[in-house]
Amino acid sequence: MKITIIYDNTVYNRALKADWGFSCLVEVENTPKMLFDTGANGAILLSNMKNLNIDPLSIEEIFISHSHYDHTGGLSEFLNVNNNINLYVPPIFKGCYSAKEVTSLSRPTAIHNNIYSTGELDNIEQSLIISTDRGLVLIVGCSHPKMSHILDTASQYGQIYAIIGGMHGFKDFDLFKDMELICPTHCTEFIKEIKSLYPDAYTEGGAGRIIEL
Ligand SMILES: [Zn+2]
Ligand SMILES: [Zn+2]
Repeated sequence: MKITIIYDNTVYNRALKADWGFSCLVEVENTPKMLFDTGANGAILLSNMKNLNIDPLSIEEIFISHSHYDHTGGLSEFLNVNNNINLYVPPIFKGCYSAKEVTSLSRPTAIHNNIYSTGELDNIEQSLIISTDRGLVLIVGCSHPKMSHILDTASQYGQIYAIIGGMHGFKDFDLFKDMELICPTHCTEFIKEIKSLYPDAYTEGGAGRIIEL
């Protein structure tokens, strides 16, 4: 599987634009291409996609982690380009959308064979779980629910070995001791601390970062 960070507070690839927000493309074999969140600004989302050679028309699904503008701001502009989309949202998300189909996920749910949602946790946010041969890969928007709650919920599907995304306010660093890949990006405040505690697992984020697992 492959994860491409399209939108982030920082850039990994200088051809792209940095902006506060998060979005990544999730590509799993034999599964529709899925966009995780849409950043804050549709124009930046689409231009970063173009620079990464990602065709918006090749995307069939969008997973929205939570309602904050820096994750949903690009959605309506994306749907203007391609609305042939299955949209997965937490129930708290009450945006206006023109997607083909909208599914609201209030509890842990299998979206595909190897792809799950934690469902909306703590009434604010859902996280995406991809099951691989090496364990679970967890993608988080801002981690507004308690990290222990996110990890416990995801763990029902197996052992978590990678976490990627925004970890707002997270400092229960012990929770990550068994992770093999940690990519704290977007709104993560304690990136330096995570990097110095787990130098081998630490992976730099930023728009343009491609993580193949
Ligand atoms: Zn947020
Ligand atoms: Zn955010």
